[in-house]
Amino acid sequence: MSNDETGDRVRMIVDRDTCIGAGQCEMHDEDVFELDDDVLATVIGDGTLPRDRAAAAADRCPGRAISFVEIEA
Ligand code: SF4
Repeated sequence: MSNDETGDRVRMIVDRDTCIGAGQCEMHDEDVFELDDDVLATVIGDGTLPRDRAAAAADRCPGRAISFVEIEA
Protein backbone atom coordinates (compact mmCIF):
# COMPACT_ATOMS: atom_id res chain seq x y z
CA MET A 1 0.00 0.00 0.00
CA SER A 2 1.37 3.42 -0.86
CA ASN A 3 1.89 6.11 1.73
CA ASP A 4 -1.02 8.04 0.24
CA GLU A 5 -3.34 5.20 1.12
CA THR A 6 -2.11 4.61 4.63
CA GLY A 7 -3.02 7.78 6.39
CA ASP A 8 -1.74 11.08 5.05
CA ARG A 9 -5.22 12.16 4.07
CA VAL A 10 -7.01 15.43 4.65
CA ARG A 11 -10.65 16.47 4.77
CA MET A 12 -11.91 18.48 1.84
CA ILE A 13 -13.98 21.65 2.11
CA VAL A 14 -15.83 23.55 -0.62
CA ASP A 15 -16.77 27.19 -0.16
CA ARG A 16 -20.03 27.31 -2.09
CA ASP A 17 -20.02 31.11 -1.96
CA THR A 18 -17.00 31.19 -4.26
CA CYS A 19 -17.57 28.00 -6.29
CA ILE A 20 -18.36 28.90 -9.90
CA GLY A 21 -19.52 25.42 -10.87
CA ALA A 22 -16.81 24.76 -13.41
CA GLY A 23 -16.68 21.11 -12.41
CA GLN A 24 -12.91 20.59 -12.46
CA CYS A 25 -13.06 18.99 -9.03
CA GLU A 26 -15.73 16.48 -10.02
CA MET A 27 -13.87 15.61 -13.20
CA HIS A 28 -10.68 14.71 -11.33
CA ASP A 29 -12.03 13.34 -8.03
CA GLU A 30 -15.55 12.15 -8.68
CA ASP A 31 -15.65 10.11 -5.46
CA VAL A 32 -15.23 13.25 -3.36
CA PHE A 33 -16.78 16.13 -5.32
CA GLU A 34 -20.14 16.32 -7.03
CA LEU A 35 -22.05 19.16 -8.64
CA ASP A 36 -25.50 19.33 -7.11
CA ASP A 37 -28.79 20.65 -8.47
CA ASP A 38 -27.58 24.22 -7.97
CA VAL A 39 -24.51 23.39 -10.14
CA LEU A 40 -22.25 24.01 -7.17
CA ALA A 41 -19.76 21.53 -5.82
CA THR A 42 -20.49 19.57 -2.70
CA VAL A 43 -18.26 17.12 -0.83
CA ILE A 44 -19.50 13.54 -0.96
CA GLY A 45 -18.36 10.14 0.26
CA ASP A 46 -15.92 10.21 3.15
CA GLY A 47 -14.77 13.63 1.97
CA THR A 48 -11.07 12.87 2.20
CA LEU A 49 -8.20 12.75 -0.26
CA PRO A 50 -4.50 12.04 -0.06
CA ARG A 51 -2.73 15.31 0.72
CA ASP A 52 -1.10 15.62 -2.72
CA ARG A 53 -4.41 15.12 -4.53
CA ALA A 54 -6.07 17.59 -2.19
CA ALA A 55 -3.44 20.20 -2.98
CA ALA A 56 -3.87 19.56 -6.71
CA ALA A 57 -7.64 19.92 -6.42
CA ALA A 58 -7.26 23.22 -4.58
CA ASP A 59 -4.73 24.49 -7.13
CA ARG A 60 -6.87 23.73 -10.16
CA CYS A 61 -10.12 25.12 -8.77
CA PRO A 62 -10.81 28.29 -10.77
CA GLY A 63 -12.99 29.69 -7.99
CA ARG A 64 -10.36 29.15 -5.31
CA ALA A 65 -13.21 27.43 -3.47
CA ILE A 66 -11.44 24.26 -2.37
CA SER A 67 -9.48 23.94 0.83
CA PHE A 68 -8.68 21.16 3.24
CA VAL A 69 -8.06 20.56 6.92
CA GLU A 70 -6.38 17.90 8.97
CA ILE A 71 -8.57 14.92 9.86
CA GLU A 72 -9.33 14.93 13.56
CA ALA A 73 -8.41 11.72 15.32
S1 SF4 B 1 -13.41 23.18 -9.27
FE1 SF4 B 1 -13.88 24.78 -7.75
S2 SF4 B 1 -15.22 26.25 -8.82
FE2 SF4 B 1 -15.19 24.34 -10.01
S3 SF4 B 1 -16.99 23.19 -9.28
FE3 SF4 B 1 -15.20 22.50 -8.10
S4 SF4 B 1 -15.23 23.79 -6.25
FE4 SF4 B 1 -16.54 24.78 -7.76
